[in-house]
Amino acid sequence: MTTNSLSGSSNRLSQLSTSLKALYPRLWDLFVNTVLQVRIWDKPYPGLMHVLIFGGVTIQVLGTIVNLTQMQLFIPLLELSFPRGIGYLLFELVMDFAGLAILIGVGMALFRRLVLRPKTLESSWDDYYALTMLALIPLIGFTVEGTRIISTSPSWAAWSPVGNLVANLMRAAGMTPDSAASLHRYLVSTHVLLGLATVASIPFTKLRHLIYTPLNIFFKPGRDSNTLEKIDHIEEAEILGVGKISEFTPNQLLSFDACVRCGRCEEVCPVAFSGIPYSPRAFIQSMRQAMLTTLVNPNGKGQQDEEMLGSLIPEETPWYCTTCGACLDRCPAFVNPIDEIVDLRRYQVLTTGKMPKSVGDVLRNMERQGNPLGMPPEERISWAEGLEVRQLMPGDETDVLLFLGCAYAYDERNKKVARAIVRLLKEAQVEFGVLGLDERCCGETSRRLGHEYLFQMMVEQNLELFASVKFNRIVTACPHCFNTLKNEYPQFESHYKVQHLTEFLAGNPIQNSAFSPNGNDLNGRLTFHDSCYLGRYNQVYKEPRQLLNNAKVEPVEMSKKGENSFCCGGGGGQMWMETDSNTRINHRRLNDAIETGADVVATACPYCLSMFDDAIRSKGLGDQIQVMDIAEVMVKQLGGDRE
Ligand code: SF4
Ligand code: SF4
Repeated sequence: MTTNSLSGSSNRLSQLSTSLKALYPRLWDLFVNTVLQVRIWDKPYPGLMHVLIFGGVTIQVLGTIVNLTQMQLFIPLLELSFPRGIGYLLFELVMDFAGLAILIGVGMALFRRLVLRPKTLESSWDDYYALTMLALIPLIGFTVEGTRIISTSPSWAAWSPVGNLVANLMRAAGMTPDSAASLHRYLVSTHVLLGLATVASIPFTKLRHLIYTPLNIFFKPGRDSNTLEKIDHIEEAEILGVGKISEFTPNQLLSFDACVRCGRCEEVCPVAFSGIPYSPRAFIQSMRQAMLTTLVNPNGKGQQDEEMLGSLIPEETPWYCTTCGACLDRCPAFVNPIDEIVDLRRYQVLTTGKMPKSVGDVLRNMERQGNPLGMPPEERISWAEGLEVRQLMPGDETDVLLFLGCAYAYDERNKKVARAIVRLLKEAQVEFGVLGLDERCCGETSRRLGHEYLFQMMVEQNLELFASVKFNRIVTACPHCFNTLKNEYPQFESHYKVQHLTEFLAGNPIQNSAFSPNGNDLNGRLTFHDSCYLGRYNQVYKEPRQLLNNAKVEPVEMSKKGENSFCCGGGGGQMWMETDSNTRINHRRLNDAIETGADVVATACPYCLSMFDDAIRSKGLGDQIQVMDIAEVMVKQLGGDRE
């Protein structure tokens, strides 16, 4: 063998090993979410129901394969000597229990659909079709077993307890061994036909999820849900975003088929909950319908592959979602409506230019002034007036680059928080600096609103700016900047360490010892609201609570907290858009805070702060509850004044 061919083989081996390594996480995901079905266990009733059906069907299918291998047809190719002896008895017992599990599961499903009728559970003919087939197959199977036991009186009958019970009932009804033997033949044929009909109907009924859902779990995009898809070589791209159903990727089309209409996404969607005419389930189902009528119609009589917005779905539909991510964590099929929502937004913003006026205004502000508020860039550092904050110049060095973000830099209420942040960093003796007038918007809003081009430009400018100074980490108090800098900038070769302020302070020993043991300048109880982009997308739950704990406040938790937190309504660009006053998500969230009896709701996000502030003002509840950023709470507990 030559040296070249040896090195070629070793390359191929290393490529194979890399591919296998990339495969492991996907296989593990598949195992955890299809075999163990971890996502559906958050609700015990449907969890148990589904596992009984799934487990029973899986065992029955495997058992049927074993049975088939004993048939004459297969014997020349393959003859298993299993099951025999005790193996056969156990086989009978397991198959019997599997059939029983299916029947119990189907019974539970029917009870849920017909009696319990949870609000978000939709029922259609194919739900009942699937349940009927799933019930008929084991029912006929047990009758087959019953007639077999009557006609042959086997010694192992007790190992098939349900089949034996059916046999006893049939005997009591007067069935003789002869009549059982002749009936057996017909029942077997019926059983086989039912099985074949069920398999044949999989692609056309809800049973399709047996195939599509595992496929979707296996092939879902590898990127984390906190990161949107990058458009590579955006200057050369011919189509930006998605206008026609055929422009979705095969993975996205697969995900539409994987949706089982379970409604778990709708149950947690703040938009649907607030009475806005949008639901992630309805959205995904409308995409599926468009796919079927446009791409799958077998007779060529489907619709034209035309623009969806305005014909198949209303133009405003993509603009309701707050990108809170609650639906992503719940969906057992790993469907991701945010990806499609952003694709449709990209199409409206970058291809047709047809977008809501408030979206156009925000994007124009970002293009012209470099921030979504439309404030003059020369005011970017006005928040720091009178404070001694180091402004970094090219070539300067520091430990922490404090990245403020537009909301803290320009919004009057949030400017006070920015000042509290500076006080805390000084208290903790942190060496830090800001970019001052040079700081640019991180671009999060433009990306979430679909203006990927503007986002990529802002990333480029920021990375140039970051490269001009030396620092060990970026610290930011805005979860939207935090998520973007930490998770999305690496798509552009950025490798900076990025921390949220709460993470950074929680790990700072000086900060943690700064509070006096009894110091409590804050009167009353405090409840903490988890920001979606800090908590759900980045799992920063314990640090803010640790800081509040150190600050000796009297905490009380809302019922929707942590990963089940309810969005404030400000994400996904909603912060800057006009909303209907009757369906405001922030009003719903304020109710959650009020229900705790808290006097203060603490936030760790400038958007959340503004959304609560707005809800308190418009409901006239300023005497009952106030909103403070966690930094303001800490300063107050240090004995400082909130400005
Ligand atoms: S998208 Fe997921 S959670 Fe929503 S209905 Fe479909 S399968 Fe259920
Ligand atoms: S991301 Fe949030 S707002 Fe958007 S569809 Fe999902 S749950 Fe609803």
